[in-house]
Amino acid sequence: MNNLLEFLAASPSRFHAVENFRKELEAAGYTRLTESKSWSLTPGGKYYVTRNGSALLAFRVPKAGFAGFMISASHSDAPCLRVKENAELAGPETYVRLNVEKYGGMLCAPWMDRPLTVAGRVLVQTENAIETRLVYVDKDLLMIPNVAIHMNRAANDGYKYDLKCDMVPLLGLGLEKGSFRSIIARTAGCAPEDILGTDLFLCPRQRGVQWGAADEFVSAPALDDLQCAYGCFHGFLAASESESLPVFALLDNEEVGSLTKQGADGTFLADLVSRVCAAMGRDRAEAVANSFLVSADNAHAVHPNHPEYHDATHRPVMNGGPVIKHGVRYATDGAAQAVFTALCKRAGVPVQHFSNRSDLAGGSTLGNISNSHLSMNTVDIGLAQLAMHSCFETAGARDTDYLIQAMTAFYSASFREENGMFTL
Ligand code: ZN
Repeated sequence: MNNLLEFLAASPSRFHAVENFRKELEAAGYTRLTESKSWSLTPGGKYYVTRNGSALLAFRVPKAGFAGFMISASHSDAPCLRVKENAELAGPETYVRLNVEKYGGMLCAPWMDRPLTVAGRVLVQTENAIETRLVYVDKDLLMIPNVAIHMNRAANDGYKYDLKCDMVPLLGLGLEKGSFRSIIARTAGCAPEDILGTDLFLCPRQRGVQWGAADEFVSAPALDDLQCAYGCFHGFLAASESESLPVFALLDNEEVGSLTKQGADGTFLADLVSRVCAAMGRDRAEAVANSFLVSADNAHAVHPNHPEYHDATHRPVMNGGPVIKHGVRYATDGAAQAVFTALCKRAGVPVQHFSNRSDLAGGSTLGNISNSHLSMNTVDIGLAQLAMHSCFETAGARDTDYLIQAMTAFYSASFREENGMFTL
């Protein structure tokens, strides 16, 4: 995909995002590996592997041995509404609505009064197997209507959303029972009774836009974290060979704690490191000690209307370059900060710093979680954005290129550590 907005438009679900990266890797000559089969890797080889269709790892084996791994990790999922199994709610009156639940820490208000649809995957019974098919219902299918101000005069005085009531999307009027499943089956090209399982999520229909007096901004669904994923991926592809083994990691379920087989609290990344070391005859512990992880997950820009939420001296701005995140909930330490800063300098990319206002807890991300399975020098970074966890977020238009440049320098470098001495 030529640009971020095109990629986001083609990635309405985490499964679609992985599929789009997968296609680009195929086009770039990468070989698919399968976790359930043995791997034979050759120096100079380019490979990728997926797990659950919602997480992906891509890597290249250097031609002459390798010191350790240069890894970036970002996440494929975004807060949204998830469709429940028995999805149709009949009534009141002739309304038919969809039964959904909250996935992750979403902002509720932005989901209302805008066209929505459904994307994800279905598992289909075929003659010999159960097959995965991606689905995206390419029409304005759903809406979550607000209550009129005349009926709730206090609506603008602060609103507490009742998820089982306020956030239920409207599908149609007087529909036959099973209509939703029929729509999904038609999209998947199968009979409704052949669908054995689903992972379906609501997504906004509006395409991303670039805007502002000088086109400074981009707004789109899922900038957290597909903007980082996109930037890391293109840095990974553009990098030149070094004495380290570059790995691009896209993991799922960060928004709900990462505790799944395809999340950062699963074994996907650690399994890859073990298998690559075994295949290439490399001592695993030694390689991991010479490895570095960039955990890339978007950061908060100072809000134009609410600058008071930021710390007095840590105030990231959009188009100011990657943001290094500091604090007890992040993996960043002085050493990791120094390494990342040196690499950004090498790339001519500015860096900024984020720290929570001291009385706010802030969010967490996948750096620490990943370290509990695969412990290595790690920096938490992100690109500055507004409206995080809205279904239409805003970020800086230039920052994607800054991240690509920084990650190209990162993946082109070889990291080694010896008792507090770091060489790049
Ligand atoms: Zn995130």
